[in-house]
Amino acid sequence: MVFRDDYKHKGLRKGLINTLRSKGITNERVLYAMESVPRHYFFDDALLHHAYIDKAFPIGNGQTISQPYTVARQTELLDPEEGMKVLEIGTGSGYQAAILSVLNVRLFTIEVVKPLYQKAKDHLKRLGYPARCYLGDGSIGLPKYGPYDRILMTAAAPKIPDSLIEQLKDGGILVAPVGKKKSQTMVRIIRKGDEKVTEEHGFFAFVPLTGKEGWD
Ligand code: SAM
Repeated sequence: MVFRDDYKHKGLRKGLINTLRSKGITNERVLYAMESVPRHYFFDDALLHHAYIDKAFPIGNGQTISQPYTVARQTELLDPEEGMKVLEIGTGSGYQAAILSVLNVRLFTIEVVKPLYQKAKDHLKRLGYPARCYLGDGSIGLPKYGPYDRILMTAAAPKIPDSLIEQLKDGGILVAPVGKKKSQTMVRIIRKGDEKVTEEHGFFAFVPLTGKEGWD
């Protein structure tokens, strides 16, 4: 794959940012990160023209790169600050990991499908995004490196596993699509000691979370 980010790609990306603004994304840091990362680098050459349409797209193994609006909205809700320790569950293509890396967090990302893990890991390294990639069942988190300031789930969970809340720091935030296999509510949980505050942020459709706490 050739990595070329010319005026045409940058122009298409500006158009995408305008679309995100028109759909209600207001966080300037998030918009900056979305404008910085060439989304077409996460597509095969023959499919480049799909990169700047606001739609999810297949990445193989029955999985998808999330819709740009969804990536922006989840990142906005996560509200990660520089230097924070962040866990992403569902590396997929690595695009969301690149966005979080641009926001200067210490990112841990876990993927259960081996070919996707390998591809994203190699790709992120080659592009210079400093994400730490792991292979495994992220439905139980990544306790070895926790607790985290932020946890982002990018696959649909039937419920929020208690083990993930346990891996959140006090004051930490978890964002996840929760509900049915085909339609979910975007949930944001803020941990306050042993309590948690739960908010709901609209409907989305993600691929299902697999593994111990998933749909398997
Ligand atoms: N964040 C990704 C991106 O930027 O391309 C999109 C993620 S895709 C919508 C959901 C991903 O979650 C898939 O790659 C899927 O294999 C992964 N996944 C599903 N269940 C998982 C689990 N138990 N642990 C880790 N990853 C999982």
